[in-house]
Amino acid sequence: MNFGKPIYVTSGIYQFRAVGARVSVIVGGDGAALVDSGGPGSFGAIASGLKNLGLPLEAVRWIFLTHYHPDHSGSLGRLALETGAKVAMHKEEWPLLSGEYPTPNPFRNQVLAGLTEPVVRRMYDYPPQADLLLSDGDELQLDSQISVRVVHTPGHTPGSISLYVLPQRVLIVGDALQYRFGKIGPPAAGVTQDQDQARQSVRKLMALDFEAICFSHFPPLRSDARETLRRRFLEA
Ligand SMILES: [Zn+2]
Ligand SMILES: [Zn+2]
Repeated sequence: MNFGKPIYVTSGIYQFRAVGARVSVIVGGDGAALVDSGGPGSFGAIASGLKNLGLPLEAVRWIFLTHYHPDHSGSLGRLALETGAKVAMHKEEWPLLSGEYPTPNPFRNQVLAGLTEPVVRRMYDYPPQADLLLSDGDELQLDSQISVRVVHTPGHTPGSISLYVLPQRVLIVGDALQYRFGKIGPPAAGVTQDQDQARQSVRKLMALDFEAICFSHFPPLRSDARETLRRRFLEA
């Protein structure tokens, strides 16, 4: 696996393979934003990916977290510390990381949850704080050209978000979508808290006008992604 080799999605948007999940990066004129941190041990892959793009760690101004699962948040604390970036996540997700509520095990099956809990517990890497708590429809201007709109896509977890990046018209969906066996659909039921809600979230994404999709566990769809989602989802 080519850890640290940037995967081109479209102008100014790349992905890195990290441990457990992909990390997306949006590169603007005033610095960069990362989406997710990968699992534990992902820091080196992300740092070398940034270096390959000519970006020092300090160029990262924002880290967005799509949801709390440890394959997405497992290097978040270290990444926030080493970059000095601000951390942003949905307002319903932060209480699960901050200790306000017990962090639920990702597996719905109680036996699996019990068996994996000691390992999962050690995988989280919480940042000391969330600098920005997000809501559906929030819009952040990354530089004079690039904006990021927050799309709340609950179901997989209560505070799962997708990011709609303009002007590139790219959707960064975290685990709100999976692209498996030629079909695009909601995430695997075994690790999804509310499957009906997850399906509704897919329909919400379909209403947007986008060209590309960045998934967390599958290669990106670079062009005609909305039409592909519509076709492949309706067939599913
Ligand atoms: Zn997940
Ligand atoms: Zn995941």
